Amino acid sequence: MDTDKVLVLNNSFEPLHVCTTRRAVILLFTGRAERVEDSPRILRSPSIVFVIPTVIRLHRYVKRLASPAISFNKKNILKRDAYTCQYCGRNGGERMTIDHVIPRSLGGRTVWENVVGACRACNLKKGNKPLHEVSMSLLHKPSKPVSVFYLGIMAHSPHRIVSWSKYLPSHVGGALRTDPS
Ligand SMILES: [Zn+2]
Repeated sequence: MDTDKVLVLNNSFEPLHVCTTRRAVILLFTGRAERVEDSPRILRSPSIVFVIPTVIRLHRYVKRLASPAISFNKKNILKRDAYTCQYCGRNGGERMTIDHVIPRSLGGRTVWENVVGACRACNLKKGNKPLHEVSMSLLHKPSKPVSVFYLGIMAHSPHRIVSWSKYLPSHVGGALRTDPS
């Protein structure tokens, strides 16, 4: 999923948002952006061979408004975790569930730091037990996203887009993995 997405950097190299390949190609062709990282994919037409980028940078600086408050809800938790099960690493899309790392029955709270996206199988396996009792572990320690803008990028950060990770802050890049599945 999302292999057709391109990370757009501000002129300052700060990540801005994610756009489609088509939009990125238009920005490059009209001279409004430059390519920063290329994908292995190539666009061919009878007259042109074009390497598709995965990261581009705008020539002008886009000033952003202050980040609005982030709502604490299932959709945003899944975006933060890139729709990836935080136990097995599988991408579950919209079918993902939310799991309390420390179960509610053991006093675990419903806060950013204690909830993660989990596939149904892992959620079932874990049940109402603490991690050590079921020999499971987390891929990443959950935390509150710092910005709505990054949340949007994280939702589009499938682990295969390794080339994005160096342009994202560590707490965002932490959602990326290097396995090519
Ligand atoms: Zn899982």
